[in-house]
Amino acid sequence: MFTRIPPALIATALLSAATTPAPAQEVNVYSYRQPDLIAPLTDAFTAETGITVNVVHLSKGMVERLQAEGARSPADLVFTVDISRLNAVVGAGLTQPVSSATLTANVPAQYRDPDNHWYGLTTRARIVYASKDRVADGEVTTYEDLADPKWQGRICTRSGLHAYMVALTSAVIHHHGEDAARDWLNGLRANLARAPEGNDRAQVKAIWAGECDISIGNTYYMGKMLESDEQRQWADSVRIVFPAFEGGGTHVNISGVAMTASAPNRDNALKLMEFLSSPAAQEIYAEANYEYPVAPGTEPVELVRGWGAFTADDVNLMALARLRPVALRLTEEVDYNAGN
Ligand code: FE
Repeated sequence: MFTRIPPALIATALLSAATTPAPAQEVNVYSYRQPDLIAPLTDAFTAETGITVNVVHLSKGMVERLQAEGARSPADLVFTVDISRLNAVVGAGLTQPVSSATLTANVPAQYRDPDNHWYGLTTRARIVYASKDRVADGEVTTYEDLADPKWQGRICTRSGLHAYMVALTSAVIHHHGEDAARDWLNGLRANLARAPEGNDRAQVKAIWAGECDISIGNTYYMGKMLESDEQRQWADSVRIVFPAFEGGGTHVNISGVAMTASAPNRDNALKLMEFLSSPAAQEIYAEANYEYPVAPGTEPVELVRGWGAFTADDVNLMALARLRPVALRLTEEVDYNAGN
């Protein structure tokens, strides 16, 4: 049943809609991720929904900024990589739980917070870069192997205090306990070719330069190095090996999203979270940084598939976030960054 509305009333309604602006349809994002990774997705979201996405890119200080802004913060969502950074925002009480059947369907349980404060969208594996010339196939198959004295003077890594290394050490603690993890870190330190310095790519450069034979790094840096005329030769000197934990899988970390506690545009923020979690959006997001989408049935791009298949460790990343203080303490105790 439809009620006929007199044309004059429609005209009045249209006029008032035109003269009284509707509240702006927008959603505000604080992001540690680079603009070029996010823009294709936020543009697609705006095209589909008409909701404007305002992104503030931060290189540090997200927790401090959200704390300073308090309930008046314009931020609705935070985007970041690494479980420790997601957990820092959650742990400071700056997020709210979000329940959504769409998010639950698109994000496997191990890549979302059991309390629904954050959702992972893509993963990256922390793997071994091995010299094509000096490391044979099958010489390294587990993370435990890296502490074996056969690697003495042959391994390069970045600082043991970097979030990527701390998460890996947390995974060692998760699998083997604190004492065994201390021994592992000590063994790894004893195998270092030089005191930790530089980022993950700098370790591959050191393999290319003959300073070490294997390094630990995140998978996507292979793709990044291949983009660069200078770094392609570093990438070409190594192959990717996916180690697994004895009795477990390959260590992965995530990029993810959380909703702020004070989100002023909650409905729009939820729409953007659900949009980003869709299999198609995850594949686009993953492709931009050579990562792995997490939704069931999704695939990384061909280059990334070519690096090989692996089974991700099935630990919930929140368990690793909780072990971070222990991992940091062990790293200091063995004086990892002093090298050997
Ligand atoms: Fe990185």
